Amino acid sequence: MPASEHMPILGKRKSITQRILFPLVALIVLSNLVVLSIIMGQLDQQLLDATEQDLINESELQAVQFRANMAELIRDLRFVTGTPPIQGLIRAERHRGVDPSDGSSEAEWVARLGVIFSEMLKAKPQNVQIRFIRANGLELIRVDRYGPNGAIQRVSQNKLQDKSASKYLSETLNLDSGQVYLSDIELNREFGEIVEPLQPVIRAATPVYNADGDLFGIVIINHNLQSTFDALKSIAGVDHQFVIANGRGEYLAHPEAERRFAFEYGRSSNISQDFPATQRLLDNPQLEVVNGKVNANAKALVYSLRSIAYNPEDSTDRLILATSHDFQDALAIKERVLSKIYLFLLFVLLMSGVLAIYVSRRIAGPIIAMRNTLNRDGLATQSEDLPIQDGGELGELARVFDNLLQELSRKQALLATEVAERKGAELELRVNNQKLKVAYKELEQFTYIASHDLQEPLRTVQSLVEMFEENYGSEMDEQAKTFLGFIKESTMRMTALIRGLLDYGRLGSESDLTEVDCQALVNAVCVDLGLRLEEVGGRVEYKDLPVITGKKTELRLLFQNLISNGLKFRRPDVPPKIVIAAERGLDCWQFSIRDNGIGIAPEHFQHIFMIFQRLHGRDEYEGSGIGLAHCKKVVELHGGEIWVESQLNVGTAFYFSLRDTRDEQA
Ligand code: ADP
Repeated sequence: MPASEHMPILGKRKSITQRILFPLVALIVLSNLVVLSIIMGQLDQQLLDATEQDLINESELQAVQFRANMAELIRDLRFVTGTPPIQGLIRAERHRGVDPSDGSSEAEWVARLGVIFSEMLKAKPQNVQIRFIRANGLELIRVDRYGPNGAIQRVSQNKLQDKSASKYLSETLNLDSGQVYLSDIELNREFGEIVEPLQPVIRAATPVYNADGDLFGIVIINHNLQSTFDALKSIAGVDHQFVIANGRGEYLAHPEAERRFAFEYGRSSNISQDFPATQRLLDNPQLEVVNGKVNANAKALVYSLRSIAYNPEDSTDRLILATSHDFQDALAIKERVLSKIYLFLLFVLLMSGVLAIYVSRRIAGPIIAMRNTLNRDGLATQSEDLPIQDGGELGELARVFDNLLQELSRKQALLATEVAERKGAELELRVNNQKLKVAYKELEQFTYIASHDLQEPLRTVQSLVEMFEENYGSEMDEQAKTFLGFIKESTMRMTALIRGLLDYGRLGSESDLTEVDCQALVNAVCVDLGLRLEEVGGRVEYKDLPVITGKKTELRLLFQNLISNGLKFRRPDVPPKIVIAAERGLDCWQFSIRDNGIGIAPEHFQHIFMIFQRLHGRDEYEGSGIGLAHCKKVVELHGGEIWVESQLNVGTAFYFSLRDTRDEQA
């Protein structure tokens, strides 16, 4: 069978490779999509969290740095306050200008204090000014780094000022010994004027008491916070914005110059305007950190706000730091990460596709090989073409196939032998059939010629007997007349026999198939036999006989012979009764003709259908022994069979079937 004839069936089904490849690739694509959507869904939040954490860490570091700075300032203050010249000064003052311990004058102790202050300024560049101010507000000594070219200088006596009105003095004088006052962070001023370049300054001061516990003065350090602010800024990431505000939210450090220390110039610029959440820090001193996201100038900013309480004496003193990051920048990282993920997924997809193809080929390969083997050679396949040595299901399948193939080959061989034998037998049958036909034809011809030729001398004998009777009838004695009567009777019987034989030979050869109404046919036969029936007091019963297709003349002969026999072979004292019936068979009609006559012994059932076979002498029942032979031939002409059932002295039933060819013809 050509391969193309299989195509429509195979076309509807998917190959094994497709069956494995499609679901596998679909599964991988689906799982990748799920992973991607999970990553996408969480990436934003994770980036936000990471950025926030980054900012928190930064500001934590900044807080540590700032507190360390302030602690150092306080340490410096305590250091200079605890130096001997301060005590020397107290002692000198109490003893009218001369220290009784070593005879140093007040001026000498001031000079020594000046040296210590100068050294301190040298060591700590962020400290810009150190002073000792008497409790009455008069500066006793001032050392600063505002000399020519920023040189450290002790300000001359005449330039010392009266600070009695200053806030820091009164605040510090209110403190106990050892306590520290830290001022607000302001711009450095000299004589009320803001010093350029701007210096954010914080003042640290501590009171000095004498041995009696009376206030003696204060030590005060002006500390420049610019480098501290710079250090804090350097902690912030390069792409982070960083601002500083004081405890009121006023900006101390801001990238825009006009927003720094705006309050010093009578303007307002407050961190709460940019980060409203600052208010929470300002309202709640316990709160240290607030994070969030805010939209500012069409930008989404992630921010961290931190409140740093730096004054051990006053917890309300605080610095607010704000570090923020443009979230768009953070998302740029996302884009980069995503593009890498896409690349990775693509790679995974390709690899899984290749893997799927490889796996499906591994599975489908041996099956395809088996299919090809089967296709190529049909059933005559050798075992070695199948992977029968393989392990697993494929090997098993191949072995099953192999067994099947061998079984099929064996059966094929058997079938071939059988077909050959049958063909031989058929040929023989056909030859024999042909011979039979020829023989039958010859026999038919012989019968015809013989009976035809026999009639000639018989007619001559009959004519001669008639002539003899006419010419010599008067001269013949009784015995001669009897002999002549025998001769006449014999020749007449001979004629009847020969006619019967001729009829037998001719039966069916000249008539065609027609529709035959058996009911009407039997009716006509009974009309013909009417006289006879009357004579013997007989009766024929029949009804609903079918219409069939057949040879009408022959069928009439059939019914006539059987009905006549039923009347002829009657019991002497029983009026004959004949019942005719028909029954529908599978592809035929089966008729029965039953009588109540003398019956037939079973041993004669077979040969009564042979020509010239009779069971009785002529003197008993007249007849020629041709009737039933005729019947058999008629039935066989219609593709049927005839048989008899009978019981002596009870009756006889003849059965015959006639093929119903009406459906076949239609
Ligand atoms: P014929 O009637 O001329 O003798 P048939 O061929 O019709 O020849 O019958 C053959 C023989 O079968 C008959 O001689 C008879 O003995 C027997 N036979 C036929 N029909 C019947 C019948 N209905 N009842 C009894 N015997 C029968």
